[in-house]
Amino acid sequence: MTTDTSPRVAFIGLGTMGRPMASRLLSAGWRLAVYDKDLAAMQPLLDAGARGAASPQDAARDAAFVITMLPNSQHVLDATTGQDGVLAAASPGSVLIDMSTINPMTSRNVATVARARGVAVLDAPVSGSSQGAADGSLTIMVGGGADVLDRSRELLSVLGARIIHCGGSGMGSTVKLANQVMAATSMVAVAESFRLGQALGVDPRLLYDVSTTSSGDSWSLRTRPPVPGVVDSSPADHGFRPGFKGDLMRKDLDLALSAAASVGLDLPLASAVHDLYARLGTSGLGDRDFSAVIDVLPRRADGS
Ligand code: NAD
Repeated sequence: MTTDTSPRVAFIGLGTMGRPMASRLLSAGWRLAVYDKDLAAMQPLLDAGARGAASPQDAARDAAFVITMLPNSQHVLDATTGQDGVLAAASPGSVLIDMSTINPMTSRNVATVARARGVAVLDAPVSGSSQGAADGSLTIMVGGGADVLDRSRELLSVLGARIIHCGGSGMGSTVKLANQVMAATSMVAVAESFRLGQALGVDPRLLYDVSTTSSGDSWSLRTRPPVPGVVDSSPADHGFRPGFKGDLMRKDLDLALSAAASVGLDLPLASAVHDLYARLGTSGLGDRDFSAVIDVLPRRADGS
């Protein structure tokens, strides 16, 4: 139940992930101010009792915690250090928690600017998709001070079932990018396997049943076999409605490859997989679930 003394939370970015997360906080009794540049995205939260803000700066006024859940690094920079950004109004002693998947260097830069204003920052990207956001079962990878995480744990535990401290500023973002390399490449491997099986006359459901109890098992296989008729809840059975968009996966691979390049590392498999997700985008399918990557894999000469 919301009381006048419950801490205020500002929530910025109410898309696929942010909306259900903000909704959980409201239901758990936190007093919420919300902002999204798309007014329609704010409406369900306003209907549920949140205060609508006119800018990130306005949302952050009087907030003990500010959460950002935005597409990429530049959006986070604009919403935090920009002209109408959070840091123009955030109170000293408050905590800014960025839960977007962004460049670890940006996470560190935002933390440095914020610290100079007395605001603590956690980078706290998540895994678990929109379903995990809705049921509070996200895995949250946290970079920043352990003491700041302790102060934020009650809030974060409304959103996630596993909250893992990964190290100092930027380390939550770094661990998330390493995870995304595994998720992106395993999805392409699953898609290729289904292409191979189908071309050789294997029933996709049989392939799924065998591989989920064999060495080919993976999260990508279990949650989103990329052909319809295998698992009812798979995006493939719903026109590849996301889920997690192919464009966001390409963005995460961009970030992973540039983080690798910054330390002189080459990731040949992630580079090849990145190009497939880029092709998904240029085919006009970037807003589909990332399992739609099967559609840009080569076909047999007869098109099957
Ligand atoms: P989304 O595109 O569905 O939502 C982003 C929201 O941010 C939109 O409502 C948009 O209007 C808003 N926005 C953009 N710029 C803004 C600005 N300057 N100020 C205020 N609002 C702004 O994205 P999403 O799927 O919710 O993903 C958000 C982040 O979470 C991304 O970094 C993504 O990589 C990460 N993530 C997503 C998933 C998933 O399954 N969708 C899972 C894990 C992590």
